[in-house]
Amino acid sequence: MRGWVGAGLLAAGLGVGVAAAHYAAALPDSVIAKPSRQFGLPFAGAPGPNSWLLGQGYGNTTGAYRQRRSTYGNLQGVHAGLDFSAPCGTPVRAIGDGVVAEVDGSHGSPPHNLVIDHAGNLSSLYGHLRVRSPLRVGVRVTKGQVVGQSGDSQGTCVSAPHLHLELRDRSHQRFFNPLPYIAADWDSLALAGSFGRGYEYDLSAPRKWQTPESQPEVRRGGRLLNEFANPWPPSPGGAR
Ligand SMILES: [Zn+2]
Repeated sequence: MRGWVGAGLLAAGLGVGVAAAHYAAALPDSVIAKPSRQFGLPFAGAPGPNSWLLGQGYGNTTGAYRQRRSTYGNLQGVHAGLDFSAPCGTPVRAIGDGVVAEVDGSHGSPPHNLVIDHAGNLSSLYGHLRVRSPLRVGVRVTKGQVVGQSGDSQGTCVSAPHLHLELRDRSHQRFFNPLPYIAADWDSLALAGSFGRGYEYDLSAPRKWQTPESQPEVRRGGRLLNEFANPWPPSPGGAR
């Protein structure tokens, strides 16, 4: 679906629309903290089928590829966050010290979302929360503090219960792979569930973007990164 991107460009050109009104220019690398495992996981305790597991990875996932021109059309066709499967109501924790920047702001990921600003011009977004976070904008939070409850992107608590976690620059224009920023045993965590086995192939470059660590940064509104000439699994409607 190309209409979404076209509408976004039109809105930007006219200087109107949510995106144009809300978002500042992307920040340069020089003012953004480098990844140094400075953050923690958004859930406490050990992973497992009754607590939390990694679901969809960040990046060029097969799921994002299938919806690259629709749901992810404004994010270069890429899943710009990490999905953690968890029962509804699981306490969600701040991944680092920071300040609450937005409660149910205009970032989608319904039914509720939360943004926390961190040092180094980084912001974390917690999406698909079950209920509105009780925190107020401007409040300080510490790493590991409970900031909300996980929910379901479809609102049922049985169809797709998970937390969508993003790491962005403060302008909300750039989206980073959270893995090198979060201290966790990713290799062990990836052994359970489908995490790390669900990336779309470009058979013309079959090693590209096939590991959790090697996924590309995303720029809001940039061109699609995965309009592959030879995709696998095949594109539902053909390659183009
Ligand atoms: Zn997600």
